[in-house]
Amino acid sequence: MHIYKFGGASVKDANGVKNIANILKSEGYNNKLTVISAMGKTTNALEEVVRVYFEENTLLIDTISKIKEFHYKIIKELFSNEKHTIYWKIDELFSELSSFLERNKSPKHSFVYDQVVCFGELISTTIISHYLNDIGIKNTWLDIRNLIKTDSNYRDANILWEETSENIKHSINQSLLNITQGFLGSDANFFTTTLGREGSDYSAAILAYCLNAESVTIWKDVSGVLNADPRYFDNTELLTKIPYQEAIELAFYGASVIHPKTLQPLQEKKIPLYVRSFITPNEKGSAVCDVNSLEPKVPCFILKQNQHLISLSSLDFSFIEEENISYIFKLLSKYQTKMSIIQNSAISFSLCVDNKYKNLSKLLESLKEKFRVECIEHVNLYTIRHATPRSISYIEKDKEILLKQVLQDTVQLVTK
Ligand code: ADP
Ligand code: ASP
Ligand code: MG
Repeated sequence: MHIYKFGGASVKDANGVKNIANILKSEGYNNKLTVISAMGKTTNALEEVVRVYFEENTLLIDTISKIKEFHYKIIKELFSNEKHTIYWKIDELFSELSSFLERNKSPKHSFVYDQVVCFGELISTTIISHYLNDIGIKNTWLDIRNLIKTDSNYRDANILWEETSENIKHSINQSLLNITQGFLGSDANFFTTTLGREGSDYSAAILAYCLNAESVTIWKDVSGVLNADPRYFDNTELLTKIPYQEAIELAFYGASVIHPKTLQPLQEKKIPLYVRSFITPNEKGSAVCDVNSLEPKVPCFILKQNQHLISLSSLDFSFIEEENISYIFKLLSKYQTKMSIIQNSAISFSLCVDNKYKNLSKLLESLKEKFRVECIEHVNLYTIRHATPRSISYIEKDKEILLKQVLQDTVQLVTK
C-alpha cells in the first residue's frame, strides 16, 4: 500500500483534478490511499467565513456564496451533465455548513473554526472521488473523521494513536483506491477537529504509520525539496536524498515544503517519503529516507518572515535565571505564541516570536510588568544548515543583522 497526498495547489482548478487523474493512471492506482486537501485557497476563504460569522455577520451569506461559486466553476468544467448527482451533493455540503452556523450556540472560536474549515476537504474529496469514478478510476470515498481520532484541542488537535490505528487497520481495503481528506479528525463526541494549518502532509504520515505503508508521496508544485524556497531564493538545487533527521531539522526551522509533524512517524517505521512535482510527474524528485547523509551536501537556507524580535532586561538588576525564564515561557504558552530563536546573557534575554493568534501586544504588556521590553516587529529569521563562510556572507550582504547565533553547522540570523 502506498499513500499519495495532493495539496491545495494541485487541485486549484478543473485542470488540476484532471492532472491527478493522469498521475493515478500512469502510476497505477489500485493500492493507493490518496489524501487530498481543500482546493486552492479554500481554507483561507473558510477562515474568512469564521471571522465574518463572529465579527460581521451581515457578510456571511456573500462570503459563503463566493466559495460556492468557486467550486461550481470547477464542477461545471468536470461534469457536463447538469443533472449529475455531484451538484446536489455539493449543495448538500453547503447547506450543512449554513445550518451549522444557524444552529451553533458555542462562542468558542476554535471549536467553530474546525466545524467550518473542514468543509474545504469534504467538498474537494467529494468532487474528485466522483470525477475519478466517472472516468473509470473506481475508488471509495472515506470520511477520515471516522478513522483519525484526536483530543478536543480544536485547530491543533493531538492524535489518539491507539484508537486511530485500530480504526484505520480495520476499515481500509488496501487493494483498492481510497480517496480521503487531509487535515481532519474527530474527537470523542464526533465533533470535527483539525490538525493545524497545512496538516494534510501529516494526515498522510498518520495513515502510512498505521497501515505500515510502503511509501508516502506528496505531490507539490516544485520539483522536490530544494535547498531553499524558490519563491525567495534564486539558483536553488534539488536535494535528491535526505536523511530523516535532516528533513526534520529543515521542517522544524521552517522549510514549509513539508509539515514538521510529518516526519517522525515515518522515521520510526522507516517509511520513505517522496516529494515529487505534479507538474513534471515523470521526474523522481526527492526521497527522505534511511540514508546517512544529505545528497548533494550543500548549504540549505530557510527564511521565516513576520517574526518579532523581543529583547528583555530585568528592571531590578536581577539576573535572567530559571525563575525569570520560566515566567517568560509561561507567558508565551498563555498567549499561544511560538518562539523561533532565543539568546540570553546574564541580564538580557532575546527571542523571536510569531503573532499567529494576534496576541503580541498582550504578551508585551504582560512582559512589561517584570522587564524592560523592546520589540522590533516584522523581522526576518534566516537559518542556514551546513553553513559555509560564503553562504553566511550571501545572507548578510546588504542587511542589518540584529542577532546572530552559531550552532555547530547551523547559523541563524535575524535581519531587518
Ligand atoms: P501544498 O499545500 O500544495 O501541499 P505547499 O504550498 O505547502 O504545498 O508546499 C509547496 C511550496 O513550498 C512550494 O511552492 C515552495 O514555495 C515552498 N517551499 C518552501 N521551502 C521549500 C523547499 N526547501 N523546497 C521546495 N519548496 C519549498
Ligand atoms: N487545507 C488545509 C490548509 O490549507 C490543510 C492542508 O492543505 O494541508 O491548511
Ligand atoms: Mg498547503
